[in-house]
Amino acid sequence: MKNYRDFDNYLKEFPNEEGYFGEFGGSFLPKELEPAFKEASDAYEAICHSAQFINELRRIRKEFQGRPTPVYHCERLSKLFGNCQIYLKREDLNHTGAHKLNHCMGEGLLAKYMGKKKLIAETGAGQHGVAIATAAAYFGMECDVYMGEVDIEKQHPNVIRMKMLGANVVPVTHGLKTLKEAVDAAFDAYLKEYDNAIYCIGSALGPHPFPKMVRDFQSVIGIEAREQFLEMTGIFPDAVCACVGGGSNSLGMFTPFLADPVDIYGVEPLGRGSAVGDHAATMQYGTKGRLHGFESYLLQDENGEPLPVYSIASGLDYPGVGPEHAYLRDAGRVNYVTASDEEAMEAFFLLCKYEGIIPAIESSHALAYAIKYAKEHKSGSILVCLSGRGDKDIDYVYENYGCGEQFNIDR
Ligand SMILES: *Cc1c(COP(=O)(O)O)cnc(C)c1O
Repeated sequence: MKNYRDFDNYLKEFPNEEGYFGEFGGSFLPKELEPAFKEASDAYEAICHSAQFINELRRIRKEFQGRPTPVYHCERLSKLFGNCQIYLKREDLNHTGAHKLNHCMGEGLLAKYMGKKKLIAETGAGQHGVAIATAAAYFGMECDVYMGEVDIEKQHPNVIRMKMLGANVVPVTHGLKTLKEAVDAAFDAYLKEYDNAIYCIGSALGPHPFPKMVRDFQSVIGIEAREQFLEMTGIFPDAVCACVGGGSNSLGMFTPFLADPVDIYGVEPLGRGSAVGDHAATMQYGTKGRLHGFESYLLQDENGEPLPVYSIASGLDYPGVGPEHAYLRDAGRVNYVTASDEEAMEAFFLLCKYEGIIPAIESSHALAYAIKYAKEHKSGSILVCLSGRGDKDIDYVYENYGCGEQFNIDR
């Protein structure tokens, strides 16, 4: 097992040139797609160190995205559980209301430097689709977003947002007509168009170089939060935590703290419980396998087919997890824990009623764990990545939980 002292050179050494984090990651592609991913990888390695690229990305972060986002001390919420102080990194205040734009603007800028004219992506719940459509509008590029017909039906507001932003939403009509088929369709389109287009993945996963690229673009979260927290308090937080779907907001938060004396917690969705199909807690119940061109922990059957997964948060219901998380788990540097639907919803209403912030249901999972931590520790501090705002969730929440009466939150 490793501890924080083993992580001084981590970012230079992981992933290696083939995209491996220890035994996880890599790039498993059909022969025809290899040149496209190789081109993206070479271009990223060359461009990401140029001063011009870095300066332009900095300007975009500041003037378009509204960064830096603040760190906020939840004094009233903290007081409920003793003397442990809960702090939030407010990614909900990033333009478009979540962290996903951090890597989409990076991917769009890379496309511009590579001379590409189009961004191709898949989307499940539509959050990644909206972020990539936003980036395409900013850079004046075409944008094709592949989306299963079933998801188009379910996620109507996000479909409208993408279209308003000028993107083409391409319905995927084969198989189960959801995210997995949308990924296949986006890969097919990339194969046909990679002279003109770049593929933009939605999280820190997929074949090399995407896990590394997305982690690097998202690490603005942790770099800012670390500096802000030190400035506010003069010390490190005792712990940081974030929710883990594919793993992008969490890696963005965690990587700048890996070499610090800070405990790190990744929070996965336990949904309705531990039975197959009732959760998406890959680290608790998964085994090593291969999906969408990379190796990591997966929820899979004995033939390697992904199992059905579920979470109340649509952004967390993925049967795999980014390969870097699999490495950090086995190295013992990050602790993986869970929060159930009910725990997340109680945290959601607590933040609404005690702090005046409506969080995304995804982010409420991270907060639910922070509350558990505060109750157990009674002192110290925990810094939570609040990955997004909850405006997208209020219709669903109201239909199923009203305004939170059942949680008896009394202030
Ligand atoms: C998509 C999403 C997530 C999950 O994705 P990660 O790649 O694990 O960060 C979490 N929170 C919000 C608000 C999201 O939109």
